[in-house]
Amino acid sequence: MNPFKNAMKQLDNAAGIMNLDSNTHEVLKYPQRVLEVAIPVSMDNGTTKVFTGYRSQYDDTLGPYKGGIRYHPGVTKDEVKALSFWMMIKCATVNIPMGGGKGGVIVNPKELSEGELERLSRGYVQKLWRNIGSDKDVPAPDVYTTPQIMGWMRDEYERIVGHSDPGVITGKAIKDGGSEGRSYATAQGGVYCTIEIAKKINLTPESTTVAIQGFGNAGSHMARILSGLGYKIVAVSDSRGGIVNMEGLDIDQVSEHKKNTRSVSDFSNAKNISNEEILELGVDILVPAALENVITKENAGQIKAKAIVELANGPTTPDADEILNANGVIVIPDVLANAGGVTVSYFEWDQNVKGEHWSEEVVIEKLEKIMVHAFQGVWTVKEKFNIDMRTAAFVSAIERVTSKGL
Ligand code: GLU
Repeated sequence: MNPFKNAMKQLDNAAGIMNLDSNTHEVLKYPQRVLEVAIPVSMDNGTTKVFTGYRSQYDDTLGPYKGGIRYHPGVTKDEVKALSFWMMIKCATVNIPMGGGKGGVIVNPKELSEGELERLSRGYVQKLWRNIGSDKDVPAPDVYTTPQIMGWMRDEYERIVGHSDPGVITGKAIKDGGSEGRSYATAQGGVYCTIEIAKKINLTPESTTVAIQGFGNAGSHMARILSGLGYKIVAVSDSRGGIVNMEGLDIDQVSEHKKNTRSVSDFSNAKNISNEEILELGVDILVPAALENVITKENAGQIKAKAIVELANGPTTPDADEILNANGVIVIPDVLANAGGVTVSYFEWDQNVKGEHWSEEVVIEKLEKIMVHAFQGVWTVKEKFNIDMRTAAFVSAIERVTSKGL
């Protein structure tokens, strides 16, 4: 269940299919650099607490390292390495000129005050500013990090280096130099993938039931956009549990309920279920939108969905992939399904570097073009080699990364 081991298994699968040169394969097994830092933070009670932070810079062949920073108590070095590897594959899958990177801090941000969170975020940059920059490594939000945190980080970076560099970080609020559409871009990209796969398997929006595990930034926007398009969202969950109503949930009301009670659980007009049960419901489309390793060899055989749209990073283990493939469940892999986020991050960086600001319509139109093109490209490779979509995405991504020589 080590995410990096899983990532390497996925690499091996693709390398086998494409007859990857063994020396190139060897190079791809290692991040170019992994930084580990100690971040002292003055806590509100007067004590100093030291947090551990990471930044893994996997590969910059195609452009500056790119990827989010995660704040979570379960962060590990191998998780950050895996996530940075997936960022390399993801950027290449959608063909944007960015490399792969990822950061993380071992912390439960829900336990910090706003002031502590700001000092931690600025502290992260104080330790890593030499290694980031718009032409070097461009962080962004990930699990439990926000536009506000990106704003603090940009500010701290510019304060230290003494000049403006808005493109040092993406996912900023609009007022801090962010892009229109970035806040829901990950979900929007997942929606384009859902529309494409629904066409392939002859589902109309009204006839399609969807379950979404994870009601955070990605999952809640996905539920909202899909239900606006007529899809029936029958179940959602968050870290405290889930709810189901096979007749469909009113997503606006669920969001309101979560805002008031901090959880989707105990929503009127729905039955409470667990985070494990939501994965095994009799739905057409399952969207894991939380963390890694939720679909494993233990539960893959019980999954009834026709397609899985991976909005989270790394939700399916390689063992589970084998079972799903054998059972004919189509998996739209994370490196494609959630690439809308980094794609609009690239647009944000591009706007920052050029001193431009694009309208929401322009951003979303460009995003749709990239996502649909990438989906079709991966589908073509899948058909050509008769392989699953994850391996197909890896094959086309690795071809792009290695065609320039490593
Ligand atoms: N954290 C997001 C991801 O995993 C976005 C990364 C970015 O925008 O750079 O794709």
